[in-house]
Amino acid sequence: MRILLLGAPGVGKGSQASRIAKTLSIPHISTGDLFREQIAENTDIGRKVSSFINQGILVPDEITVDILAKRLINDDCRSGFVLDGFPRTIQQGQRLDKILKEMNINIDAVVNISLDDSSIVRRITGRRTCSSCGAIYHIEDYPPKTDGVCNNCSGALTNRSDDLPSIIQQRLQIYHDQTKPLIDYYMSKVKFVHIESDKLITVTTRKVYEALEIFDNIEMKDVDGHETITE
Ligand code: ADP
Ligand code: ZN
Repeated sequence: MRILLLGAPGVGKGSQASRIAKTLSIPHISTGDLFREQIAENTDIGRKVSSFINQGILVPDEITVDILAKRLINDDCRSGFVLDGFPRTIQQGQRLDKILKEMNINIDAVVNISLDDSSIVRRITGRRTCSSCGAIYHIEDYPPKTDGVCNNCSGALTNRSDDLPSIIQQRLQIYHDQTKPLIDYYMSKVKFVHIESDKLITVTTRKVYEALEIFDNIEMKDVDGHETITE
């Protein structure tokens, strides 16, 4: 299955994408994660993209489309993939259409996850990520047992450099201006499902799975090692 997730920053796209990927044994491809890996490894690309990301603005298409196209031709994408954070503009949508056409494949479903802006800001400002295992916490809704320390692996919890309030506003503005039009772009073309993001990740996951007819018996709470986690 080839799935594309749409939605503003902070709606929980990443969490849902990683769950779908795990259930279907397909890769989770996040352009944001690909960029953060490059930054962590201090590569040429990493050095080029970090200032855009830190300002909360889009990385230029020539870099973004290139890194995405290279990722999609990997063998592990043959059985499908979950795209998270790409495309973010109509132009990127058109570029993706071209790439997929050349590969002779189609997107099977687009999932649009929505949440109001004030909840988004609250979620992002409280979000903390484990620097070693990637587990996600929220300082009020899902605090770690010990401040700043991961329950699973004792790794240090950090916030992303672009999760500052002023930068979040910038990212939301770009979402409304440039990414939201993709809803209309895809709605008429492909199976399109609209999901309201719930406070509980598991509840959102169940809605997504129902809409995509993904059947999964695993206890969803075990996926992240969390009992009940709020996004
Ligand atoms: P979020 O969805 O929370 O904004 P991401 O990890 O998807 O987080 O993206 C983080 C940053 O990476 C974006 O603000 C942007 O600078 C850059 N980025 C990610 N995907 C794209 C893309 N498709 N086009 C341009 N820039 C991107
Ligand atoms: Zn951890």
